[in-house]
Amino acid sequence: MSPDRTTGAEPLLTARGLRKSFGVAEVLRGVDLTLHRGEVVVLIGPSGSGKTTVLRSLNGLETPDAGILSIQGAPPADFGAGIDARGRFALRDRSAMVFQHHNLFPHLTVLQNVIEGPWRVQGRPKAEVIAEARDLLARVGLDEREGAYPHELSGGQQQRVGIVRALALRPELLLFGEPTSALDPELVGEVLLVIKELADEGWSMIVVTHELGFAREAADHVLFLDGGAVVEEGAPDELFTAPRHERTRRFLARILRPLDGDARS
Ligand code: ADP
Ligand code: MG
Repeated sequence: MSPDRTTGAEPLLTARGLRKSFGVAEVLRGVDLTLHRGEVVVLIGPSGSGKTTVLRSLNGLETPDAGILSIQGAPPADFGAGIDARGRFALRDRSAMVFQHHNLFPHLTVLQNVIEGPWRVQGRPKAEVIAEARDLLARVGLDEREGAYPHELSGGQQQRVGIVRALALRPELLLFGEPTSALDPELVGEVLLVIKELADEGWSMIVVTHELGFAREAADHVLFLDGGAVVEEGAPDELFTAPRHERTRRFLARILRPLDGDARS
């Protein structure tokens, strides 16, 4: 339960009318998204629907052509205003992203990977950063592996280090871009469990995933994207059990019953 919801406070993050084209391809056609503090918003949708572009726009890896992004306590960035709103959008520094591929530095140990951002980039005291990193590693069951190199870990362990590395930045918002889709099936659960625990602890997060079981359990709000637009959104119980739109129904049927005849229609 989000504290903001009950108090009616300003959302942590609001996106309004996000548009983005690559060449002639219009990839986002006016996406709206609202996230209250402590909430989990899950984005689902077919390949190419724009999920990754939304996430990348939220943390400044992509600059929308138009639309407004606002984060609590900072002036909104209006990307259609003909000025470079990118530098003014505060979320970049207040969020951390976990990608499909962990992107750990191969030549650094687990601990070195985790402290790199808070120590070298954020300039926090090294001893404090190391102590916090060790706590975080223990929380995801990796306290024994701080001296290991990424290649010595399983994919699931690497991804858990990736999550710890994001947490070590002390972000206000976590962005997950298909955090389990590069993993072998038997390693997916351990990573989803960590993300679910963070959600239960009250972290604010936006998660792009194809794991509908996770979405059902962890999400406060689900957005179904298709063709660069939000086709349908709602609480997971509504959206998964009684989708209102045919496109949502077809997508869910394809994911849930991939060998069913419907999949080819
Ligand atoms: P999803 O994550 O839902 O699969 P994406 O946001 O990755 O969708 O991509 C949406 C569309 O935008 C796709 O057609 C993709 O090929 C295209 N696209 C994404 N990034 C770029 C880019 N940097 N240059 C050109 N096309 C891109
Ligand atoms: Mg994607």
